[in-house]
Amino acid sequence: MPPTMRAVRLEGPGQAVVRELPVPEVVDADWRVLQVERASICATDRKWFARGASEPRILGHEMVLRDEDGRLVGVHPEVPCRACKLCADGWDNRCHARYSVGLQADGALAERVAVREDRLVDLGELAADQGALLEPVACCWHAADMLGATEGDAALVIGAGAMGIISTWVLQALGARVVVMQRSPERRHLAAELGADAAIGPDDDPAEALGVQPRIAV
Ligand SMILES: [Zn+2]
Ligand SMILES: [Zn+2]
Repeated sequence: MPPTMRAVRLEGPGQAVVRELPVPEVVDADWRVLQVERASICATDRKWFARGASEPRILGHEMVLRDEDGRLVGVHPEVPCRACKLCADGWDNRCHARYSVGLQADGALAERVAVREDRLVDLGELAADQGALLEPVACCWHAADMLGATEGDAALVIGAGAMGIISTWVLQALGARVVVMQRSPERRHLAAELGADAAIGPDDDPAEALGVQPRIAV
């Protein structure tokens, strides 16, 4: 009998079931099956959970794994083809053939997961709990970087969901002051509690809240 593992599998709309399933197999030489140390649940998972997948699927694309040497590694969940022009030009995040571990392939809400070697990220000194948030932080960091956020900047973040809050922290880490615009008063309050320099409603003026017109918006 092949070795098995426990996994949470999405089997229909709103149906996430704990199953004993076969451990994934290494199909290509540059894939590895590693032990899951942490996996976090993001809004995409909640959407998939509500809607169900086209076939039974183990979700989980934000993860920290333990490699064969016992080291913690992060994972870039998207798997590009490495053969098309976009991949060759460094736009592998736009590759038309790319798919994501934890969405179009089985993911990390399990004891073990299959990942392609080139997708592994050295976590350095990061703890497992921090590493599990690497993917959303990287998205927000990339956006802030593309916008050229810098010391003394003024920024507007629209929406105080998880990505809005993380963007706020990233922009602040780069030296910007941040006003968060959010419709619901509860979330607005949360944004302020979590460190936004100002939190306003959709009818308020960001320039008034920050004292200057925001130069960038996320
Ligand atoms: Zn996600
Ligand atoms: Zn490609």
